[in-house]
Amino acid sequence: MDSESKITALCLFCHAPLEAEEDKEFQSGDMIKCNACSELNDYDSVVEVAKEKGTEKVKNEVEAELKKTLGKLFK
Ligand SMILES: [Zn+2]
Repeated sequence: MDSESKITALCLFCHAPLEAEEDKEFQSGDMIKCNACSELNDYDSVVEVAKEKGTEKVKNEVEAELKKTLGKLFK
């Protein structure tokens, strides 16, 4: 399961994916400029939102796995 590394950061204003330049790393307190709408996104908020989405995704995957497993068990 490599979905963890694929959590996308989205612009808080227009929901376009935020892309960091390859040699640039963002850290807490940074502002990320959106290429689509030029708004500045607060890094911490972006990460929070991305984390929530990631958790939701993992939750769904876990649920699907459980259903499969339970389906086999109770066949
Ligand atoms: Zn934007």
